[in-house]
Amino acid sequence: MYSIIFFILGLIFGSFMNVLICRLPYGKSIVYPSSSCQTCGHKIRFYENIPILSYIFLKGRCSSCKTKISIQYPFVELATGFAFLFAYKYFGVSVLTLKMIVFLYLLLVIAFTDFFTSLDSDNFECGVIPVVLTRGGIVLGVILSLMVAPGLKTFLDSLIGILVGGLIIWLPGFIYQLITKKEGMGFGDVELLAMIGAFLGYKPLFLILMLSSIFGTIIGIPVILIKKDRNFPLPFGPFISIATIVYIFYGDFLVNLYLNTMFGG
Ligand SMILES: [Zn+2]
Repeated sequence: MYSIIFFILGLIFGSFMNVLICRLPYGKSIVYPSSSCQTCGHKIRFYENIPILSYIFLKGRCSSCKTKISIQYPFVELATGFAFLFAYKYFGVSVLTLKMIVFLYLLLVIAFTDFFTSLDSDNFECGVIPVVLTRGGIVLGVILSLMVAPGLKTFLDSLIGILVGGLIIWLPGFIYQLITKKEGMGFGDVELLAMIGAFLGYKPLFLILMLSSIFGTIIGIPVILIKKDRNFPLPFGPFISIATIVYIFYGDFLVNLYLNTMFGG
């Protein structure tokens, strides 16, 4: 029963995530005006705005002008639905679940925003991570960590996490920039890792960065080969987010795997 509730809640919040993804990077208000078709301006009625179901009933097209609705909408809704569902399956119903759901939500909205803005070369040179998400996320990370385990130790853990998260990626980027005079890592990625540090503390950061580099290489090389463009601005934020989500659910498994391979075991 709870599973269904969490999944549906995820779908609803996923629908709102689409609004955030489409408006935040463009500096548009996220509350006004209500959603309308990008092509014909048709106002989306409430029954056309039901997650997943509306997309199926409308057969993926605007009810007025029949323009195709981007697959982004149902995809984001489903991803959020499953994130909420897995958070419940893994953490039950507790304050920790609330913390993890907020965390997962931030990771997803950041990953999608970074990804979709990187595709929009008319408006952006590369992917964008809105600072309101990362800075808001840093504050929420500290507050929610304290709600799960109140005390000075938690506060310090989060604080050190923020510092290490910022430095772990800012420093290599800074050195890269000094040597090559080219911009390495975007500042959005620095803030994203600081946010992850606020939620998880500093310990998992190195593993997460390693994982995201592996994912980035596995996905990045084929993309560059297909695009035939070495300078294609593949955003790194989505890989950091995916690596963090993998860590949340498979962290123990990965740490054991690492220890076993390194030290035999
Ligand atoms: Zn339309």
